[in-house]
Amino acid sequence: MDKKNIDWANLGFGYVQTDKRFVANYKDGAWDEGTLTEDPNVVLNECAGVLQYAQTVFEGMKAYRTEDGRVVCFRPDLNASRMADSARRLEMPPFPEDRFVQAIVDTVKANIDYVPPYGSGATLYIRPYMFGSNPVIGVKPADEYQFRILTTPVGPYFKGGAKPITIKVSDFDRAAPHGTGHIKAGLNYAMSLHAIVTAHKEGFDENMYLDAATRTKVEETGGANFIFVTKDGKVVTPKSNSILPSITRRSLMVVAKDILGLEAEEREVYFDEVKDFAECGLCGTAAVISPVGKINDHGKEICFPSGMEKMEPVIQKLYDTLTGIQMGRIEGPEGWLKVIE
Ligand SMILES: *Cc1c(COP(=O)(O)O)cnc(C)c1O
Repeated sequence: MDKKNIDWANLGFGYVQTDKRFVANYKDGAWDEGTLTEDPNVVLNECAGVLQYAQTVFEGMKAYRTEDGRVVCFRPDLNASRMADSARRLEMPPFPEDRFVQAIVDTVKANIDYVPPYGSGATLYIRPYMFGSNPVIGVKPADEYQFRILTTPVGPYFKGGAKPITIKVSDFDRAAPHGTGHIKAGLNYAMSLHAIVTAHKEGFDENMYLDAATRTKVEETGGANFIFVTKDGKVVTPKSNSILPSITRRSLMVVAKDILGLEAEEREVYFDEVKDFAECGLCGTAAVISPVGKINDHGKEICFPSGMEKMEPVIQKLYDTLTGIQMGRIEGPEGWLKVIE
């Protein structure tokens, strides 16, 4: 395969078609072997379950090139188990977790020249997803499913350094108390589109969602978990059954405790106490951590001490350490890097 002629430094976060994708089908109660294919199109019956009742779940992860030239991905076993949880909640047959990890490895290997070089800031984004594929007209689970993995190279999330963002407290809810907020289902994103378009129109970068039942506790944004730092340096992240369990956030809590020696706590966080925190960030695979400079609660502003120009110190340290582990510069806990090549 030729080295791809891609301007890595100027890639955005968009779809770029790569050579191969993984496809497996579930029929008559079993998953087939799956295969790598060059065809990027999915042809479905007009009445497919996913088209009628949104029976679809997904994952998001990345492959990185390390300093010493290896290609790795980060904790794919956690994506495998989270996708299985998501599938079960929507009455879909989970794709076996060990086969999920192997399929990730095979798909990245088949597109290895699209893994951006070390130091470019770009990465190969990996999107596993699954959907109900046979015709369904009465409301019920599909009988047949397709599992796919596509890859697309994505640019550095922060071009020219991570600038703090401004977020608003949303008037919309993201997840009901016993709903689907804890799984990675397309439906959670479909219903967040109006809220994010509204926030953008008003000049904000993101929404902060509060718990739907009482509107007093911090949940998360549309696609990232919160991490706060107290004035005395303790890392705090909200606990709730309706938050998506971010792998980045779970890893950052381990980094804080076991590598940086900080106190780290997952607990309910009331919106009233947010003004007392020293630092605030959003965490997820895409950005690792986005620093939050300002939160707007219906016109009332909470401004974090480091302002709108730079990352705050503890968040910067967490960011440097986790990205250092992902790029192979810092030794992380055993099993965090899955070597692909
Ligand atoms: C995917 C996602 C995250 C981030 O999870 P990671 O595993 O860290 O990428 C956070 N919140 C929501 C709602 C998500 O869908």
